[in-house]
Amino acid sequence: GLSAESYRRRHEISVTGDNVPSPFMSFEDTGFPSELLREVHNAGFSAPTPIQAQSWPIALQGRDIVAIAKTGSGKTLGYLVPGFMHLKRSRNNSQMGPTVLVLSPTRELATQIQDEAVKFGRSSRISCTCLYGGAPKGPQLRDLDRGADVVVATPGRLNDILEMRRVSLSQVSYLVLDEADRMLDMGFEPQIRKIVKEVPTRRQTLMYTATWPKEVRKIAADLLVNPVQVNIGKVD
Ligand code: ADP
Ligand code: MG
Repeated sequence: GLSAESYRRRHEISVTGDNVPSPFMSFEDTGFPSELLREVHNAGFSAPTPIQAQSWPIALQGRDIVAIAKTGSGKTLGYLVPGFMHLKRSRNNSQMGPTVLVLSPTRELATQIQDEAVKFGRSSRISCTCLYGGAPKGPQLRDLDRGADVVVATPGRLNDILEMRRVSLSQVSYLVLDEADRMLDMGFEPQIRKIVKEVPTRRQTLMYTATWPKEVRKIAADLLVNPVQVNIGKVD
């Protein structure tokens, strides 16, 4: 087999942090439950993508991650699958509010994440709700009332629903900020900070971004604790 170092070199993975675990070079390395491996097989995936290979073992250790990777690299399952494993261990009652919260910049992206969560979470009986603007709140509120283990949301709509006190984030212990640079570009920083104030500080936080400007570094420094940094591709 390939060593961790040669796998990282071949796939342009660089990591910063203490005792970073070796990447999962194959699905067999992951130890994921068979029902999930079956879904992955049915999807026709032959191996984890580099971001999945490197971020899965880190996320499964419960550590915070900041990952810098271009779009199309498979980030969604990179954070969703460890979120599913986290859910298996936490056994919260979804009626009390979500355990996994994913923030995403746009309705379109949030919907794509939701579709992936439904597809890969179904066999593990994970429920998932999507909240976004530009659509009536009623159906989204009704979905929330039914209970959701995973909520995928745009910051604006989630903040509106929080102000209505129609959702509690007190059970969230796995928080993902997807496309963080884009959310900041869109002016969502105040909403993100308000949302995060409602999430317990005892949590795992994962941040994904395509670029690494100082605004993103600042919010990462504020919201993450001793994160492992994972870079995919040429560092610019
Ligand atoms: P990103 O968020 O990095 O832009 P996505 O998570 O949207 O990327 O994934 C891009 C595409 O790759 C999706 O169609 C997804 O289903 C597919 N994909 C995810 N993981 C794998 C894999 N291990 N092998 C092949 N395709 C994958
Ligand atoms: Mg994505």
